[in-house]
Amino acid sequence: MRPLAAGERVLEYKGEITAWRDAIRRHRREGVVGHTFLFGLSDGRVIDGSRGGNSARWLNHACAPNCETIEDAGRIFIHTLRPIEAGAELFIDYLLATDDPLDEDVRAQYACRCGAADCRHSMLADAA
Ligand SMILES: [Zn+2]
Repeated sequence: MRPLAAGERVLEYKGEITAWRDAIRRHRREGVVGHTFLFGLSDGRVIDGSRGGNSARWLNHACAPNCETIEDAGRIFIHTLRPIEAGAELFIDYLLATDDPLDEDVRAQYACRCGAADCRHSMLADAA
């Protein structure tokens, strides 16, 4: 809707705060495939954007994103990393983690095709 300056706080990642264990159990029970809206907090809990979440849960991943996430007192905020033109899509680096062994299926599931010059070809934080 309007241009953004670098360092602007544009959104809060909202949702129900819960324990990882409960969020994963609910996710499996509801059988959702392909999408999770779980955002990990540094204290070990998670924000479940599928419960009371907002549009922040639809932000896509990019390896060279124009936004970053900042945790502040148990809340997650989306901040711009550089000036962004009106109408441009906002991206964050998902930096995902998985407990699954990194076999080909798992790598494929988290593949990134963002097209950045330094694309690491994965939405996982540690894809090496
Ligand atoms: Zn990428």
